[in-house]
Amino acid sequence: MSGFSTPAILLRRIDHGDYDLIVVFLTLEKGKISVIAKNAKKSRKRFSGLLEPFTALELVCGPSRSGGMHILKEASMESPFAGIRADVYKTLYAGYWAELINGWVEDWKPQPRIYRLLYDAFSALDLGIAGPAESSIIFQIRFLSIAGYSPKLDSCCKCGILLDRIPAGEVIFDLEKGGIVCNGCTAGESRTRLRISKGTVKQLCWIRENEFNKLKRLRFTQKSVMEAQAAMEAFVPYYLGRMPRSLKVLEQMRRR
Ligand SMILES: [Zn+2]
Repeated sequence: MSGFSTPAILLRRIDHGDYDLIVVFLTLEKGKISVIAKNAKKSRKRFSGLLEPFTALELVCGPSRSGGMHILKEASMESPFAGIRADVYKTLYAGYWAELINGWVEDWKPQPRIYRLLYDAFSALDLGIAGPAESSIIFQIRFLSIAGYSPKLDSCCKCGILLDRIPAGEVIFDLEKGGIVCNGCTAGESRTRLRISKGTVKQLCWIRENEFNKLKRLRFTQKSVMEAQAAMEAFVPYYLGRMPRSLKVLEQMRRR
């Protein structure tokens, strides 16, 4: 395959021998790719300060030899997002989002909406436009929506009654059913059922339909942050079928 250039966001770095790094990027034009950065470990000057976690770069990659990996020829900085790496919580959240994308997005399948979502989310996190917890709620529900795994939020999964017509102030967020269930259709809480207020569900519905940039000024109450965070961080692992390692670390940090 011939060489190419593309905007890219660094998701992951893996040591490759004594001198080289394998770097996983989400690119705008090629989807997720892994490339070899020759001598990136040996010579700090080679890609000086560029191959840091979460940076947005413009890449120039050489052609791949006999079906192997492409070689990273040049990189130039678009956005360093240094504010993320300066803060341990921001780093953990960014790591969680990068892990979701690394696990879900297929190699060489362009996902421009996912790219834009990650770029906007890192930008909001970097500049502190929205809090890390709020940004993560927005990222997760938008990610699920774009990926086609969106929970059903506008009506009861069992009887179909619209959210607005459910008389109670709270509903059940049911992981097994894949969305909300009204109180008349459920037999209480369990490990896969969480209580959530209608206000929080409405907020999630609104977020899902809007681009990240419109959501910056969205105000969450403390209660809806707690509820939406619990719902999203239960739903994402349930649907992926595994617990992201970075989410486990994030939960341990919160308990300290
Ligand atoms: Zn119902």
